[in-house]
Amino acid sequence: MKKICVSEACIGCGACVSIANELFDFDESGYSHPLKENIETKEEIELANQAAGACPVEAISIEEEGEKEEKAA
Ligand code: SF4
Repeated sequence: MKKICVSEACIGCGACVSIANELFDFDESGYSHPLKENIETKEEIELANQAAGACPVEAISIEEEGEKEEKAA
């Protein structure tokens, strides 16, 4: 399972929402947030990766869930 995160770097350009509107939507402030944090299917992961690649400010990250957790020193 993977987890979608949208950081505060989001500028609300809408690219992720237009690529993957089942995974991202705008909040009241006009910034994107993930509709589904946990994604499992190949299709969802591919869409999330496309959206992350299209984000002009690299605000989207897709992290492995339930595997190794890196701890900040
Ligand atoms: S593509 Fe990036 S900057 Fe644009 S709305 Fe989505 S997260 Fe925000």
